[in-house]
Amino acid sequence: MEGKILKGIGGFYYVHVTEGDVYECKARGGFRNKNIKPAVGDDVEIDIIDNKRLLGNIVNILPRTNKLVRPAVANVDQAVIIFALANPEPNYNLLDRFLIMMDRQDVETLICLNKSDLVSEETAKDIKSIYEDCGYRVVICSTRQKTPDDGIEELRGLIHGKTTVFAGPSGVGKSSLLNSLGDNAIARTGELSEKVMRGKHTTRHSELISVGGSTYIMDTPGFTSLYVEDMEPEQLKDYFPEFAPYQSDCRFNGCVHINEPDCRVKDKLNEGKISRLRYNNYIQMYEELKNKRRW
Ligand code: GDP
Ligand code: ZN
Repeated sequence: MEGKILKGIGGFYYVHVTEGDVYECKARGGFRNKNIKPAVGDDVEIDIIDNKRLLGNIVNILPRTNKLVRPAVANVDQAVIIFALANPEPNYNLLDRFLIMMDRQDVETLICLNKSDLVSEETAKDIKSIYEDCGYRVVICSTRQKTPDDGIEELRGLIHGKTTVFAGPSGVGKSSLLNSLGDNAIARTGELSEKVMRGKHTTRHSELISVGGSTYIMDTPGFTSLYVEDMEPEQLKDYFPEFAPYQSDCRFNGCVHINEPDCRVKDKLNEGKISRLRYNNYIQMYEELKNKRRW
C-alpha cells in the first residue's frame, strides 16, 4: 500500500494511506544501509502487519521532488506565509526574510494577510500591492468574517491537492486558519481540530496535517526571528525580484544598488516604483551579511 508520512517520532512513522487511515510504521533496516532516512512528507510503500491495530513496515521510499531543511519536510509544493494585518502588527522585515529563506530552497511562497477585519480595505490593499508588485501572490483573509469573500475559499483553492508549508509568527491566526480550511475535512475525520488543538499545548513536532484527499498542510511552530545566512552579501539582491527588471541597466555590472553611481534600482526607488519598505529591509540584511563575513 502507498501512503505519505505525516510525522516521525522516536523511530515510528505515521503513514497516511489513501483510504484515510494512519498506520504506525517502522522503517526496515535496509534504509539506513542505503543512507536514506524517511522524512515527513515522503511518499512510501508499506507492508501491512496488522490491519486492525494499523501497524506496518515502510518498505520503500518513492522518489522525492525536493527535501527542505527548514522545516525538514519532503515533497513540498509551496509555502504560505501568514501575517496579521494588525494585532500583532506585521513585521515586514521578518516577512522578507522568510521569503528569501523559501526562495533559497526553491519553494514558491504565497503571502496570506490575515485579520483583514481589523484594518480598512485600503490599508489591506496597499500592503497587498507592495508584494504583488514584487511578483508574489497575496491573499487577504479573515477567519472572523465568515463571508464568501473572506479569503478562506481562495486559500482553500490554492492549496487543493498540494503539500503546503504554513508558517508565520505566533498570534497571527495560523491555528484559526487551519481550522477554517479544514472545515470540510474535520466533518469527515474529526482529525484536524484535535491535532491543531493538541499542537498548541504540547511541544510541537513538525507534522503534516491531512485536510482531505491529497491536500496536506505542514504546520510549523511560530517563529520570532530569522537570520539570512549562507549567502554572500552580493547575492542578496537576487532574492528581491523587483530589482531584476532594472539591474541590467545599472552602470556597474554586479551593482548592489547601495552606494554605486548611476544605479537604476535606486532611481526606481526614488520614483516610488520600488517599495522603500522592501529596500530598507534589503539594506539591513545586506549589512548583516557583510558584518558576518568580517568575522
Ligand atoms: P496562532 O498563534 O497563529 O495559531 O494564532 P491563533 O489562531 O491562536 O489566533 C490568535 C488570536 O487571534 C486568537 O485570539 C484568535 O481568535 C484571533 N484571530 C484569528 N484569526 C483572526 C481574524 O481573522 N481576525 C481577528 N480579529 N482575530 C483573529
Ligand atoms: Zn544598481
